[in-house]
Amino acid sequence: MNLSKQLATMQQTLSQLTEEFQQLQVYIANLEAENEWLRQQAAPAVQNNSQSENDGLHTLQKLYDDGIHVCPAYFGKTHDGGCLLCMEVLSNVSN
Ligand SMILES: [Zn+2]
Repeated sequence: MNLSKQLATMQQTLSQLTEEFQQLQVYIANLEAENEWLRQQAAPAVQNNSQSENDGLHTLQKLYDDGIHVCPAYFGKTHDGGCLLCMEVLSNVSN
């Protein structure tokens, strides 16, 4: 491979890396925003250790209703509704 072909290949690679880097920056920004939102949702439960079990259930139920998994498998990720694992967790906590 001659020098100009090598240079063209390197430029293409650099261009792809730059694009991937920009996508990662957007991904990270979205994760940081989601993390901040989750912190705000969980803050009342974390700050008040003396809360009753009903408050804890209410917090979990609210997170689930807001579209966030509360099951161990997907905790913190968003859902489109109807996660059986979450329903199991909410059912066990309320009993
Ligand atoms: Zn779930």
